[in-house]
Amino acid sequence: MLAIQAVRTGGPEVLEAADLPLPSPAAGQILVRHQAVGLNYIDTYHRSGLYPIRTPTVIGLEAAGLVEAVGDGVTRFQVGDRVAYNGTMGAYAEAAVVPADRAVKVPESVTLEVAAAALLKGMTAEFLVRRCFHVKLGHTVLVHAAAGGVGQILVQWCKALGATVIATVGSKAKAAIAHELGADHVIDYSHEDVAARVAEITGGQGVAVVYDGVGKDTFEASLKSLGRRGVLATFGNASGPVPPFAPLELSAKSAYVTRPRLFDYIVTTEELDESAAALFEVIGSGAVKIDIGQTFPLAEARAAHEALEGRKTKGSTLLIP
Ligand code: NDP
Repeated sequence: MLAIQAVRTGGPEVLEAADLPLPSPAAGQILVRHQAVGLNYIDTYHRSGLYPIRTPTVIGLEAAGLVEAVGDGVTRFQVGDRVAYNGTMGAYAEAAVVPADRAVKVPESVTLEVAAAALLKGMTAEFLVRRCFHVKLGHTVLVHAAAGGVGQILVQWCKALGATVIATVGSKAKAAIAHELGADHVIDYSHEDVAARVAEITGGQGVAVVYDGVGKDTFEASLKSLGRRGVLATFGNASGPVPPFAPLELSAKSAYVTRPRLFDYIVTTEELDESAAALFEVIGSGAVKIDIGQTFPLAEARAAHEALEGRKTKGSTLLIP
C-alpha cells in the first residue's frame, strides 16, 4: 500500500512515498481502509521534530474509512462499518491498524470525507468550548486563526452557544470567511493591533476566553485581551511555541493560562465517544458546517504541508488515497 513516511525530521522534503505491506490487525485492533485522511497542523510538528518522533515513521493522526478486518476480541466494530479515528499515528497511508477503542462509528448522515476533515479539529473545538472553558450565552470570546481548520469550527460552535465572537485572521480573504461564519467582529492581525481592537470592541472589559492556536506571535496580545479572571487557552504553535513567561504577568487580571491537548480530554473510550457524539450532533444540526477547503492526493502530502505552513489553506484539508 502507498504510505507517506517522514524519513527524518525536517521540512516538507522529508516526506517520502513508500510501498509498505498491508498490516493485519492484532487482538483489539481494526484494519481501516482509508477513504480520506485529515491533515492537521500537529503533523507538521511531528515532521519538523518540534514534537519528537522516531524516523522513518508514517505520520498522520486522523482518517476515516471502512473497517476491512477486525482482530481477536473486537466487539465494538464489524467488517464494513464506517469509522473514523484521531490520535493513532500512521494515517498517511491507504490503510492502517487502529485500536478498536480509539475509533468511532460515523453516523450515516456524515460523509467519510467530512468525518476525516472534522474528527480531530472538531473534537478539539468540543473540549475547548465545553470543558476547558465552558462558553455560555453572554460571553465574549476571542478566536485566533478563525478561517483555519479548528478556527472555523470554534467560531461556529461559540456562536451556537450564544457568545459574541471576535475573530482574528491574516488576510482580507480570510476576514470574509470569518464574517460568513458569523463572527461578530473580525480583526486582521496582519496590520491591526489585536489588543487595542479588543479593548475598543469590549469597552475595555476584555474577553472571557481566548482560543489561541497561533502561539508565539499572538501570545502577548492574547494575554492583554483577557478580561478579569479570563482564561487563555494556548493550544497550538502555528507561528512557533510560546516562549517562557513569568506567572507575575498574570496577576494584573488574575488570569488563567492553560496549554491543553485534545488527547488529555479523550483519555477514556467513554470520553472519546462523548466528544465525538457532541461533534456529530452540531454537524448534524447544521450549527457547525465543515469546510473542506482543499484536497490533495495522498502522494502529494508534501505540497499539502507547504500550503498549510504557508498559510494558504482555509478550513480543513484532506489527503485522498
Ligand atoms: P489551521 O488550519 O488553523 O492553520 C494554521 C493557521 O494559523 C494558518 O492558516 C494561519 O491563518 C495561522 N497562522 C498564524 N501565524 C502563522 C504562521 N507564522 N505560520 C503558519 N500559520 C500561521 O491549522 P489546524 O486547524 O490544523 O490547527 C490550528 C492550531 O490548533 C494549530 O496550532 C494546531 O497545532 C492546534 N491544535 C491543537 C490541538 C491540541 O490538542 N492542543 C489539537 C488540534 C489542533 P492566518 O493566515 O489567518 O493567520
